[in-house]
Amino acid sequence: MADTKVLLIIGRGRSGSTILDNLLGELDGFLSAGELFNVFRRGFVMGHTCGCGRPVASCALWSRVMATALSTSGGPIAPARVVEWQEEVAGAAADTRRLLKVRSTEKGSAALGSYVSVLGRVYAAIAEETGGRVIVDSSKRPPHAAYMHLVPGITPYFVQLVRDARAVAFSRARPKHTVDKTCALRARHPTPSAGCAAIFTRRRCGGVMHQSAHCWCATKISSPTHSALWGRS
Ligand SMILES: [Zn+2]
Repeated sequence: MADTKVLLIIGRGRSGSTILDNLLGELDGFLSAGELFNVFRRGFVMGHTCGCGRPVASCALWSRVMATALSTSGGPIAPARVVEWQEEVAGAAADTRRLLKVRSTEKGSAALGSYVSVLGRVYAAIAEETGGRVIVDSSKRPPHAAYMHLVPGITPYFVQLVRDARAVAFSRARPKHTVDKTCALRARHPTPSAGCAAIFTRRRCGGVMHQSAHCWCATKISSPTHSALWGRS
């Protein structure tokens, strides 16, 4: 069975990753998974809302994906346990350059093997449930991308998203409203989406913006990555 192609968007917060993620998710064979790194803590531990409007734990897609990905012969893994592994592997003190140099899970931390194994099963389950040929993961965190070469069953591709620092600063000066913080506005941040957020993007952008943004995405992604992702294997 061919590896699942995973396109990781890396960059700072407020760089436009949600827009890029949602637009890529509109392409045939692409599945926008949102910020996968946050689905365990925010989605399953903190009870945040999915892009479809349901709590992540009761979202039809995410509940099925996690039921598969967190099952082991020794019983199900609790999402809180996965969060502990995340903290150990890619928490605030994570050393991205060191992670990039780790060539096998045995040479990493104790949690690394368990965590990348779960991630591999999550990506596989998403592909299986949705039929997605390319999973778009807009987690953005460099440490999250740094151990992708260790995740079994995937071929990772990377897009580094860089926005004008002045625009980032302007964006960060303004509050960010989400359904989980205000209950007044629709989700605008990358809550874990099941392609659900793509519907929101369509409503917001309309056809013309949609078309031009496709061209923008195609020109910003490097040529080898572009051919690898768009070509079918
Ligand atoms: Zn959902």
